[in-house]
Amino acid sequence: MGKITGFLEFDRKIEGYTAVEKRISHYKEFTLPLKEKELGEQGARCMDCGVPFCHSGCPLGNLIPDFNDAVYRGKWEKAAEILHSTNNFPEFTGRLCPAPCEEACVLGINGDPVTIENLEKNIVETAFQKGWITARPPAVRSGKTVAVIGSGPAGLAAAQQLNRAGHLVTVFERDQKVGGLLRYGIPDFKLEKHIIDRRTTILEEEGIVFKTGINVGVDISAIELKKQFDALILTGGATVRRGLPIDGAHLKGVVQAMDFLKQNNKRIDGLKDLGEEIKATGKDVVVIGGGDTGSDCIGTSIRQGATSVSNFEILGKPSQGRPDDQPWPFWPMRLRTSSSHKEGAERFFSISTKRFIGDHNGNLTGLVTSEVEWVSEPGKRPVLREITGTEKEWKCELALLALGFTGSEMTIAEQLGLEADARTNIRAGEGNYRTNIPGVFVAGDQRRGQSLIVWAISEGRQAAHHIDVFLMGSSDLPLKGEGDLPRI
Ligand SMILES: Cc1cc2nc3c(=O)[nH]c(=O)nc-3n(C[C@H](O)[C@H](O)[C@H](O)COP(=O)(O)OP(=O)(O)OC[C@H]3O[C@@H](n4cnc5c(N)ncnc54)[C@H](O)[C@@H]3O)c2cc1C
Ligand code: SF4
Repeated sequence: MGKITGFLEFDRKIEGYTAVEKRISHYKEFTLPLKEKELGEQGARCMDCGVPFCHSGCPLGNLIPDFNDAVYRGKWEKAAEILHSTNNFPEFTGRLCPAPCEEACVLGINGDPVTIENLEKNIVETAFQKGWITARPPAVRSGKTVAVIGSGPAGLAAAQQLNRAGHLVTVFERDQKVGGLLRYGIPDFKLEKHIIDRRTTILEEEGIVFKTGINVGVDISAIELKKQFDALILTGGATVRRGLPIDGAHLKGVVQAMDFLKQNNKRIDGLKDLGEEIKATGKDVVVIGGGDTGSDCIGTSIRQGATSVSNFEILGKPSQGRPDDQPWPFWPMRLRTSSSHKEGAERFFSISTKRFIGDHNGNLTGLVTSEVEWVSEPGKRPVLREITGTEKEWKCELALLALGFTGSEMTIAEQLGLEADARTNIRAGEGNYRTNIPGVFVAGDQRRGQSLIVWAISEGRQAAHHIDVFLMGSSDLPLKGEGDLPRI
């Protein structure tokens, strides 16, 4: 254990942000790191509980008290080894994870949890700075080949694990660059893209082959790929966006959030030929949808110089604290305020968009909403009811639809004859990530639906174990909760 009285001596301290007016002038990350001494104190707050509930809160089963203790003792290299034994890419989760582990931290029962996510980021960044993270190609090759289709966090994690097991791995990606939503969904101000490049360079040095600009199912059929490789894993994400089929949805200015975010990320990357420009500059913007994607649209719109940004959420406003019916250590549905929300957007809850309004040229000029309430009757699911007399018209030249994703694309599934559920998530056997076609596996958002980076990495790791078993009869690749040979 770290410092026995650490949690009594030190308050929770998390890294800050640069001032709003400064950070909205650029697209770079804007956090203000803590000093090493302060990080040690944060590590010392961990109580090393007999039953570490944070382990079960983390979908990767990260060995949290162990790396907290190592940070407290200033043993950063050891901390990095412990962290990498369960997580291939802590630089992504340490920046972007909503940290369900912290909601499960025992200190959180009646106080402030340990700053687990921030320690994770500092451990991995220290390890990169010190040069401890280097390519470690496998000593022996198995002679087996695996194709990974999709280079998001699930595909990258599966690729690294399978490569460690000695298999020759090729990752196919239809976009220009690898990273999935890390690259073209999440804005640079949350994750600068050189962080992805830094890691993929190491993966390449370890022997993984990346083939970008190849749309599997279109440029090469999945059947052909199956013939060429000993196993396939689909990690193509949940890419089918939810629309808003109301009057005026066709107007110029009603835009899918992903089109907006992707174009902006590509523009920042200096890419050309981005199609028709979508920009918030000088516009009244309404972001419809209160999740992560909506929040990213707010931060991006503000950086582009929107006149105003309003954010609509159809659900009611959650409470600030943990609701009584969602006790510790479960993940609570409470009000979450991102750094983007604090940059000048106004948030509205319990509001439904009824129709868009346009001018004679087909341009969006406004939209109409009404307030809604969720009505519950015993034994029935809550239903949404409009509150009469609450209709309101809003001026708006850009409406961004951030309504989530309905499932995955079916081209590859149809070519291979894969089974999917009603939401078009590809079905896999209980806990073994095998589809109904032998040798074809699935992981990440394409299997579980729209989710989180930490889940994608976890699924990629788990699936790699099962692919290794399929190819070799057994596997040394760890499953969740087993830990790994420490590797960075
Ligand atoms: C805007 C936005 C912000 C988010 N912010 C967060 C956050 O802050 N924290 C968090 O934890 N989660 C966040 N998420 C969710 C998170 O990004 C996803 O859960 C995660 O990226 C899923 O990983 P994945 O590897 O399964 O799929 P993806 O990241 O979606 O990657 C799939 C990849 O497969 C490629 N592909 C698909 N089909 C083919 C094909 N046929 N051939 C070749 N390539 C193909 C795609 O181009 C893509 O690159 C966010 C999501 C969005 C949309
Ligand atoms: S990956 Fe997420 S849940 Fe797991 S320890 Fe890190 S911040 Fe917590």
